[in-house]
Amino acid sequence: MSSLGTETAFEVLAKAKALEAEGKDVVHLHIGAPDFETPPHIVEAGREALADGWHKYTPAKGIPEVREAVCEDIARGRGATVHPDRVLIAPGGKPTLFYAILMFGEPGAEIIYPNPGFPIYESMIRFTGAEAVPMRLAEEKAYSFSADEVLAQITPRTSLIIINTPANPTGGVVPREEMDRLVAGLEQHPDVAILCDEIYSRLLYDGEEHVSILQYESVADRAICLDGWSKTYAMTGWRLGWGVWPEGLVDQAERMQINCASCANAATQVAGAAALRGPQDAVDEMCAAFDERRKIIVEELNAVPGFTCLMPKGAFYAFANVKGTGCSSKELEERFLYEAGVACLSGTSFGRFGEGYMRFSYANSVENIREGVRRVRACLES
Ligand code: PLP
Repeated sequence: MSSLGTETAFEVLAKAKALEAEGKDVVHLHIGAPDFETPPHIVEAGREALADGWHKYTPAKGIPEVREAVCEDIARGRGATVHPDRVLIAPGGKPTLFYAILMFGEPGAEIIYPNPGFPIYESMIRFTGAEAVPMRLAEEKAYSFSADEVLAQITPRTSLIIINTPANPTGGVVPREEMDRLVAGLEQHPDVAILCDEIYSRLLYDGEEHVSILQYESVADRAICLDGWSKTYAMTGWRLGWGVWPEGLVDQAERMQINCASCANAATQVAGAAALRGPQDAVDEMCAAFDERRKIIVEELNAVPGFTCLMPKGAFYAFANVKGTGCSSKELEERFLYEAGVACLSGTSFGRFGEGYMRFSYANSVENIREGVRRVRACLES
């Protein structure tokens, strides 16, 4: 159990709440959830589902119509054709990565994962006893990777490669040429599976295109794609996500789910279908609001002495280079929280290559973003 990690975001939240309970004012720039409400027509669909008697277990893979709605959405958004039999609806995006890493991780295996990256990847890899091999996402590469460097990390023991685009915590996006090169290279490594975490697929800016692993037929027999409702429809608390599994793995994934959750919440699944099939204006509006805040936070962060910040291309995080302050990321996380009343996350919460960086979430109002960065600046100047 001691090899299991965690998400520091939950720890920082607990510390911030404790400060607030003492009457202190805290600006929350650590949050990994949209600050918007779930659009009303989705809430209504969930309410109706409860009134209509969706109270029992559903098939473990999910309600068939919901899996069909996911396939329609994949066809619309990614231009890929997927059969509903390959879709597994789960309680959130996380179970898909949990099941995939448990499936491919074991002592002796190596799993390549993004670093800095979502902390659960490294945590779960280590938990299985596999070796966690970091795929370094460098600022100089706009937080994407070089396919050649990743391919050079593959050994006969590599069982899985994890990709995340758009990415947490950097807002980086994998360009099509790099994904093409990676997939072309992986064709020479037929025993290496791929998990592509696309949970932020709808949160892209400046006309950036979403490149999905589902668009690559040549690796369809070993590619797992993860997405869901949490970030797109502001539904983090509903717990609903989906995975597309290769034909040869979907039955095992279903068994994993039967052993763990049985199925996702029935009424939530019905609401999820309404989200996918209903109007998408709310998604566009949320994305436009994030876009505006993105530009503001990057401008503000770049005005902080010792900080530089690239413009993120997706998700809702700004990953600032704070090396010019001369302080460690962890030290800044503590100081900003306790001296300035700003909750944000040390880059090292996302792996060792996050040293020298801080993650600021812009899933907060423009007013709070400005106030949070003003406090950070004042704290450093003092
Ligand atoms: N993958 C990434 C990259 C994330 O950032 C998150 C949540 O922060 C998840 C997966 C988990 O999503 P969910 O809340 O749907 O389980």
